Amino acid sequence: MPDCIFCKIIAQTIPSPLIYEDEKCVAFADIHPKDKTHLLIVPREHIPTVADANGEQEPLLGHLITTGKKLAQMLNLSGYKLQFNVGKEGGQEVFHIHLHLIGH
Ligand code: 5GP
Ligand code: ZN
Repeated sequence: MPDCIFCKIIAQTIPSPLIYEDEKCVAFADIHPKDKTHLLIVPREHIPTVADANGEQEPLLGHLITTGKKLAQMLNLSGYKLQFNVGKEGGQEVFHIHLHLIGH
């Protein structure tokens, strides 16, 4: 999506160091961290919100969660939050699905 900031980060037309990447998703630091660790785990596929995801995309959503778990283990986080904000009223500001990994 040409106007999507996360698509631009994935394509690295906006440079942002990727902490993790695989064939389905990437992870990078949130620009306004809410805790010592605050990463965004973002699918390469542009889907605006969790509410827009269809059945075929269910494994992709699961992949984001297990990637969050792996990154948390890699970073030695003993406890953490994995959070999707869904829709404007749900606090979502960037309309490309992303999973927040927040912890310390
Ligand atoms: P949302 O509120 O949509 O769930 O979360 C969007 C997150 O993206 C926010 O926590 C915000 O700080 C982060 N963010 C917005 N623009 C950028 C950016 O250009 N780069 C990075 N790394 N994070 C961003
Ligand atoms: Zn996008």
